[in-house]
Amino acid sequence: MRFEGKVAIVTGAASGIGRATAARLAAEGAKVCIVDREQAALDAATPEGEVMTHACDVSDEAQVEACVKAVVEKWGRIDAVANNAGVSRGYQPIMENDMEDWRTVIGVNLFGVAHFLKHAGKVMQEQGSGAFVNTASVAGIRSGAGGNAYSASKAGVISLTQTAACDLGGYNVRVNAVCPGLIETGMTKRVFDYARDNDKEHKLGSRCELRRYGKPEEIAAAICFLASDDASYITGQALPVDGGNTAS
Ligand code: NAD
Repeated sequence: MRFEGKVAIVTGAASGIGRATAARLAAEGAKVCIVDREQAALDAATPEGEVMTHACDVSDEAQVEACVKAVVEKWGRIDAVANNAGVSRGYQPIMENDMEDWRTVIGVNLFGVAHFLKHAGKVMQEQGSGAFVNTASVAGIRSGAGGNAYSASKAGVISLTQTAACDLGGYNVRVNAVCPGLIETGMTKRVFDYARDNDKEHKLGSRCELRRYGKPEEIAAAICFLASDDASYITGQALPVDGGNTAS
């Protein structure tokens, strides 16, 4: 039980990678605050274990500050934050981009991470311990199907992971990122369904050395590793969990 007695927050926990991460943390003994936009979605996704729900929009700093306060009021500390909430807007060439989409994607994917680093970071700074794991993407390493704003937001998450690791390292607080490849979740369902029906050679799935899509649980395993004491000497890193997508 790697997370016995520990308190964790998981954002975007009503679906996909976040839901799998919350379930694994709870199964490994953590008290988990699951965060997503809608209370009903959180209620439907609550895993077994000691779990609280907190509906909040991670792109809104005041709501994130209130979430951090609620967790500290209930459990007195924060040991791990999985900054995982994210949105994508599909691919259009830059010439056709709607800049309102840019504001939404950067607001959730990048500001959302910064808000928790700031407010939960202060709690961890005082404690003298803690770990953040930010969900970036292979799209932040090289161009991906998620589009311009999405790739820029995820490259920003990788950079923010490094700078925040420098700011917090002196307080024994680690900050890392995972970079998932193509994972079957609500975010990618439409594109994967299309590929299954129309792409008989499975070109999309074979864009990685393992020649298959990943499962949310395979990303959750990496997030939990980086959040745990097993990764006690790892900080400022962005770990591709992509079936070898970025290896070739
Ligand atoms: P998902 O759509 O299944 O889950 C994302 C969750 O984030 C949803 O429950 C959604 O409601 C929540 N969310 C969105 N905006 C929010 C906001 N403003 N405040 C709070 N919650 C919000 O998608 P997923 O694939 O599980 O995505 C999880 C993370 O993984 C995202 O950051 C995504 O960019 C990243 N990622 C996914 C893939 C993939 O192939 N699925 C690949 C690389 C990176």
